[in-house]
Amino acid sequence: MQVPFLDLKAQFESVKSEVMPAVEQVCASQMVCLGPAVENFEQSVAKYCGSKHAIGVSSGSDALLVSLMALEVGAGDEVITTPFTFFATAGAIARVGAKPVFVDIDPGSFNMATRDIASAVTPRTAAIMPVHLYGQICRMEQIMEVAAEYELAIVEDACQSIGAAQKDKKAGTFGQFGCFSFYPTKNLGAFGDAGLIVTDDEDLAKKAKMLRNHGQSSQYDYEFIGGNFRMDGIQGAVLDAKLKHLESWNEKRRANAEIYTEKFSGSPVKPPMVEPGNVHTYHQYTILAPKRDELKDYLNKKGVSSAVFYPKPLHLHKCYDYLEHREGDFPVAEQLSKEVLSLPIAPELSSEQIEYAADKVLEFYSKK
Ligand SMILES: *Cc1c(COP(=O)(O)O)cnc(C)c1O
Repeated sequence: MQVPFLDLKAQFESVKSEVMPAVEQVCASQMVCLGPAVENFEQSVAKYCGSKHAIGVSSGSDALLVSLMALEVGAGDEVITTPFTFFATAGAIARVGAKPVFVDIDPGSFNMATRDIASAVTPRTAAIMPVHLYGQICRMEQIMEVAAEYELAIVEDACQSIGAAQKDKKAGTFGQFGCFSFYPTKNLGAFGDAGLIVTDDEDLAKKAKMLRNHGQSSQYDYEFIGGNFRMDGIQGAVLDAKLKHLESWNEKRRANAEIYTEKFSGSPVKPPMVEPGNVHTYHQYTILAPKRDELKDYLNKKGVSSAVFYPKPLHLHKCYDYLEHREGDFPVAEQLSKEVLSLPIAPELSSEQIEYAADKVLEFYSKK
């Protein structure tokens, strides 16, 4: 049996009849940069997330960038975040000229260790950028307490967690800004690059809207120095059609996760843990696996694909040499980067495929 990591072609076939007419409509109207299809999608997402405003942008990376620009975070500022995330999180901080300040992660949730945040605050700290990794929201109560105490903004990197919830509140709606990515492999994927920002603050929403279009306030009047961070009309149309399926896709991911977690009980593998009050969306189903690389090879030979997110924490990359970190600075992130393995969890996969993948994992250890 083959168990691919994703099956985006199967997903396309399942929504083709809804997506293609919407795409064709955009083509016919030629409103292809922003336009009504993007506006419709923005309204749908705002409603889905329970936030007042949504601003479609060109990517998740740009959502983070525009959020920091709107908050005027820049040179001389520090932003606290995690070293165990996709590159773009800290990349956005550095791109506005601010300094990424890392805190280590919690080994249970893979998210920022909230107890370490307060001690990373300095007089230059401007914001906290929590990352809801793999589809699980950080401990936002604690993060919001620290933010309130030191008057810091919160920009949530919710790029992996659209639809995730904590006590009935959706990812992206805790901070000043929540940022989403619709990169094709995400739980809600576009036909190319796209991203989105949500906020409840009307002034910040207006500013972010201007910034995504060069900072233009009215035609050829520029109030800020922004950039071209506009969402394509086609992506708006695709995403609005697909959003209707997101809840059932996330439900299917949770069902797949349950199969794995049951199979792995009592095995050498540590399944991901869901913190109390959280609804996980399993953007990734990530286990801690002894002899991780050997297991990955074994699975590959048996037709089961898997992936490592992320093999090297951000503080150890060459581009951050100037931060003068060294190995050992964030030991939990460093250790877990050697043990994490994400297994196929996509909603298009059948329960038979998930069971097969789980059995192959167990088979690997039974032979040791
Ligand atoms: C995908 C992702 C991003 C960036 O999104 P793009 O749309 O690819 O630019 C940022 N942060 C995290 C945690 C992500 O997973």
